[in-house]
Amino acid sequence: MAEYVTFWFGPRPWGPALQDENEEGLPRVRTKEIPAPIGELCLGCDEAIQEGDYGELVVLGGGTQAAPTAELRPLHRECGLLRGVGHEVGLCNCTNYEGLSLREAAIECDRRWRRRGAFGRYFLRN
Ligand SMILES: [Zn+2]
Ligand SMILES: [Zn+2]
Repeated sequence: MAEYVTFWFGPRPWGPALQDENEEGLPRVRTKEIPAPIGELCLGCDEAIQEGDYGELVVLGGGTQAAPTAELRPLHRECGLLRGVGHEVGLCNCTNYEGLSLREAAIECDRRWRRRGAFGRYFLRN
């Protein structure tokens, strides 16, 4: 039987955000661990997924309205965070990512966001 799932890969250091139950113990989203798609390019940073990286699969939509296409692509967890909150921690187009590569900026974004103690809250909100 089909079900809604989120596919994730790699170690899982992001705390409660993607767990199968919310604070009230109710199902939030079913998650399924998959082997890390080593060598596939991350949708955020365009770098190959490596051993030890973690993230999830997201849908890359394309095609036309009459003939839409959908492709599952890996996204580093930090790269997803960078897109969501990069501006708030000074890592975005406004600052040209402080001269860092997108991957470096994503890892730095994760570090700054964790320092705020807000990492889990962001994902719980979404
Ligand atoms: Zn990435
Ligand atoms: Zn900005």
